[in-house]
Amino acid sequence: MGDFFRAGRSSKVLPVRRAVAQLRMSRPQCPRCHRPLAHCLCALIPNLPSHTRVLILQHPSEVDHALNTARLAALGLQQCEIRVGEIFEDLSRWLAQPGYQPCLLFPGEHSEALSAYQPCAQPRLLVVPDGTWRKARKLLHLNPLLAALPRVQLATAEPSRYRLRKAPGPGALSTLEAITQALEVLESPASFQALLKPFDALIDGQIAAMGEEVYRRNHQRH
Ligand SMILES: [Zn+2]
Repeated sequence: MGDFFRAGRSSKVLPVRRAVAQLRMSRPQCPRCHRPLAHCLCALIPNLPSHTRVLILQHPSEVDHALNTARLAALGLQQCEIRVGEIFEDLSRWLAQPGYQPCLLFPGEHSEALSAYQPCAQPRLLVVPDGTWRKARKLLHLNPLLAALPRVQLATAEPSRYRLRKAPGPGALSTLEAITQALEVLESPASFQALLKPFDALIDGQIAAMGEEVYRRNHQRH
């Protein structure tokens, strides 16, 4: 996932990405989830309602990423949209959602910890930058309106599923995982775990792809 929550900077993940990218090039893709047709995740993607609206601002470098978990969030949530770019001319219009309180999911010392909605509270429009940490900061720099939004963060993040598989760095969360956790905090006790089903399958596919690549390299060498 092209996201700064994610395990993006792990050196172990990079060869996996390359392997997946190579495999993708030679196989027909599902037009919806963009996975190779043989590994289409669509059957696992839910269609969940939420009180919260989610707006993902995706850096262009993430679009063709094999680990595009933001796409899984946009497909799995009824109230989630994804916009791709560096400078978002229409941002003020997107943020002006009547009845919603916009905020930026961005960790930092000035970020308020998310908590469950109080009764009658206005739901949030959760704006989520999707890119590496550096790209996310660049998006803020290029879009002052974005940088000016009140910031929120997850108080205690659950460990990433990447991490369980020893891939990512500490505290790294995919965009999809960050959104899932944020919604579960805001809309407690509602569960959004169904969003992660295609993600688990994606990781399993990655590991399989890595095995294939390693096998091929070894095979060529000998
Ligand atoms: Zn699909």
